[in-house]
Amino acid sequence: MGKINVLGTEVYNRIAAGEVVDGPYSVVKELVENSLDAGATEIEICIDNAGKTRIMVSDNGSGIEKDDLPKAFLPHATSKISSASDLDLITTLGFRGEALPSIASVSVTEIVSAVKNDEGYSITAEGQNIGMVSPCAAKKGTSVTVKSLFYNTPVRARFLRADKKEEADVTAMVTRFILGNPDVSFCYIVDGRLKLTSYGEGLEEAVAGVYGADTVSNCFNINAEKNNIRVRGYIGSQNYFKPNKTYESVYLNGRWVNNSCISTAMSCAYQYYAMKRQYPFYVLFVDVPADFVDVNVHPNKSDVRFVDTNLIFSTVYKIVSSILDGTTAAADFVVDTKRSPAVKSTYKDSPLPAVFGGKAELSEKKFTEIYENKTEIPVFREGKTSKPEEGASNLLYKSPPPSYPNDENYLSSEGKDEISDEIDTREREEQRSFILDTRKYVGALFNTFLIFEVGDEAFLIDQHAAHERLLFDEYSEKIAKRTITRQCMLVPYVFNVTPGESQFLSEKLPLLSDMGFSVELFGDSAFRVYEVPQDLQSIDLKCFFDELLSGMGELKNVTLTDILRDKIAMTACKHAIKGGNILTDAEIENLFSLLKGDMGLKCPHGRPICVKLTKTQLEKMFKRVV
Ligand code: ADP
Ligand code: MG
Repeated sequence: MGKINVLGTEVYNRIAAGEVVDGPYSVVKELVENSLDAGATEIEICIDNAGKTRIMVSDNGSGIEKDDLPKAFLPHATSKISSASDLDLITTLGFRGEALPSIASVSVTEIVSAVKNDEGYSITAEGQNIGMVSPCAAKKGTSVTVKSLFYNTPVRARFLRADKKEEADVTAMVTRFILGNPDVSFCYIVDGRLKLTSYGEGLEEAVAGVYGADTVSNCFNINAEKNNIRVRGYIGSQNYFKPNKTYESVYLNGRWVNNSCISTAMSCAYQYYAMKRQYPFYVLFVDVPADFVDVNVHPNKSDVRFVDTNLIFSTVYKIVSSILDGTTAAADFVVDTKRSPAVKSTYKDSPLPAVFGGKAELSEKKFTEIYENKTEIPVFREGKTSKPEEGASNLLYKSPPPSYPNDENYLSSEGKDEISDEIDTREREEQRSFILDTRKYVGALFNTFLIFEVGDEAFLIDQHAAHERLLFDEYSEKIAKRTITRQCMLVPYVFNVTPGESQFLSEKLPLLSDMGFSVELFGDSAFRVYEVPQDLQSIDLKCFFDELLSGMGELKNVTLTDILRDKIAMTACKHAIKGGNILTDAEIENLFSLLKGDMGLKCPHGRPICVKLTKTQLEKMFKRVV
């Protein structure tokens, strides 16, 4: 007798349920996707006991016809496609007709739906038993209630995690929907208490609804287009970081994705500003033409594959890093949310002037290297200490609005009238301030803070932080330009490695060499370091290589660049002028001129090098003005 059985619907549905219904969060995902597919503009989500006892999603979408109601519970029943050719043109989130039967097979599911106000019908399915359609009062739209999830699959039920964890997953899912559908209003109720709301009034409102209005004011609202790739959304400023990666959202062509190409591009763009264990905040929408993506239509797959990964990587990286670095091109499309609605603007394709870091000129090849060799991010910003190219210095002073208190352009373009003084001051501090030659050196406070007066503003520069930053930039620049002087070691440093470490290090040798470290294999299981960058002579090699090797595993997200940055920062710190040192006028002048007027810089540890005090602030302190 043959051994192949054709599975019955019940078994089939339960198997499908295993794929589709992973826990309460996936029920919420499927139901909300159905609501969005039905064109809903208002969606309410309620969960009780983390969704284990009840999940309800109701919407004001198209509704389901009375005759279609029983079909909604049948496997492969969908209104979204009817033939294989439709597969190529899918615009809806669902299309496999699997969700409702799968959910119903492991719960008690009730659908109440109306295609017209007051003409509602309901139907209940309990496990495999699909009930009768009966009329009821309902507004146009659909409401699906899922009770007793996994009641008939006790093993699955046991695998559900603690309420808090399951609830957190649902909340994360709802958050994704709110941010990704800013024109839809959402209401999310947990155990009878309102947890999140949005009013469908656009992205700013959605971001504020989820993360608080405070977050929005710490973000750039960006909208840029380059290489046919549009990048828009809210990205945290250079000073705004989060303790983990959960504040990073990416939507590709409107769909939430977990994509390492884009997230790596983002980390690279922020790496100069972020300290260790600081992660950026962003809600980023990347829109690309359909033929840029490898269509992979598994509905549960949250990743995508790009046809040209490097193009996506470099475009996202260039746009975001130039915004963070405050370059001219960025100023064209950065829109400060406080002041005006987002404007569409096109990224200029011309390379950025070297004085802005010039790294936007990194070749595509470089991006390939960076992307494909993800643990290494050899992006070193050129320091501000580099000689500006001919004509570039003009740009340096022109790019951000110069912060002259009496400059009318500045005031009006910043919309000063509409915003309070406090916000104005804070926001202006966030921008880079450029001081021209009208400065007056007033003196030093506590032999640490150099005071310069410019018009109605006073700039207090931390001499240690400023010098540290300059040294840091200088070292980084040498590395980037491969103009490092190597110092031969009297006694080479030899260290033993495991075979895995050996392979890992062998791959990194060219990179290490670029950075000024001459390292070679020494016997079978050791390496020998015989030259180090002159500027980093005092580097602790054991510590450096230990850290590098600890970053080998995927788990620890340490990159060679991170480590090197740390070391350069440490060395810079060691060699920098200390607070308390009395400087000569020439030293002060030299320090100031090396800064080239860029007062928005931070020391390598992220502290500001300059604090600005305005005359008005002082007058307020003395109650001369109120
Ligand atoms: P799919 O979404 O893949 O089509 P589902 O099992 O999720 O499959 O849903 C089956 C069908 O039920 C859908 O094609 C749609 O016609 C209908 N449906 C489900 N939820 C809703 C809703 N909220 N509003 C309108 N129709 C819905
Ligand atoms: Mg669906």
